[in-house]
Amino acid sequence: MLQNFDRYPLTFGPTPIEKLARLSEHCGGKVELYAKREDCNSGLAFGGNKIRKLEYIVPDAIAAGADTLVTIGGVQSNHTRQVAAVAAKIGMKCRLVQESWVPVQDAVYDRVGNILMSRVMGAEIELVDEGFDIGIRESWERALEDVKDKGGIPYPIPAGASVHKYGGLGFVGFAEEVRAQEEALGFRFDYIVVCTVTGSTHAGMLVGFSKDGRARNVIGIDASCTPEQTHAQVLDIARNTGSLIGLDRDFTADDVVLKTDYAYPTYGVPSAETNAAIRLCARLEGMMTDPVYEGKSMQGMIDLVQNDFFPSGSKVLYAHLGGVPAINGYSYIYRNG
Ligand SMILES: *Cc1c(COP(=O)(O)O)cnc(C)c1O
Repeated sequence: MLQNFDRYPLTFGPTPIEKLARLSEHCGGKVELYAKREDCNSGLAFGGNKIRKLEYIVPDAIAAGADTLVTIGGVQSNHTRQVAAVAAKIGMKCRLVQESWVPVQDAVYDRVGNILMSRVMGAEIELVDEGFDIGIRESWERALEDVKDKGGIPYPIPAGASVHKYGGLGFVGFAEEVRAQEEALGFRFDYIVVCTVTGSTHAGMLVGFSKDGRARNVIGIDASCTPEQTHAQVLDIARNTGSLIGLDRDFTADDVVLKTDYAYPTYGVPSAETNAAIRLCARLEGMMTDPVYEGKSMQGMIDLVQNDFFPSGSKVLYAHLGGVPAINGYSYIYRNG
């Protein structure tokens, strides 16, 4: 589906699929759980889902003659850390706007994890006191102007690399990769579980899995806590990505399956149930998830299994999108494990 698009390799190759045998057993044994490890996809500063998206965006940045990647996220954004790593790798500068999207008071929140790595990798960081919003931000537009005023050539990458014309392509590729891995495994996954916030991961999967009739088998777990906006953005990106790759099929609101019961109390803040899911998965599988994204989709998947959302015998693929570095910013919550 992607043969007409340039891809700049930034990942190790196809990501491994791992069976979560002990977690499956713990959840009753009626459903087989697997994880596809996007959290281990690259050597670029711990990798993650944004690297897969950026593989299709970097060729455009190079073609544009840019010298500075400019993007935006929260203080503990995984996305901005991955853009900083990619900029270093391709020899560009990096300008990051990091907003106060998360009401976390941990003493080390703005010193460790993702932002620490972005600083070490040489990104120029501006901290801005604005709240959570997945849309286009004025602070980001100001940063683009500022780079230009100083004689640079900025290349704009929106939050999560989502509302970018090529933002959905990486996860179309994910679906193609899963299909190839299914051939080798000798079975097909019935459902794919994905954490959804800025939307292009879910949207790319929707487009990719629509090829074999599985668009609605992609189960998004909202972690934004602004689900109407996230739902609309997924649909928009799926439509744009579908027409970009020449798909002769449109998408409707019903194609975007988004579970909205797990993002509480708000974006970036884990509930007691999210923390329980993080600990459970860590203790049964040695697989770490984070309090912002993957802990919430893990909580959602476990809850859906336990409430018989997936028919008995289903094979469920959990897309582990990365994000663990952010857990360092929550040191107080996990001080006793
Ligand atoms: C960005 C991110 C997500 C959400 O992906 P979107 O494409 O923004 O919806 C989920 N998990 C992790 C770890 C992320 O960094």
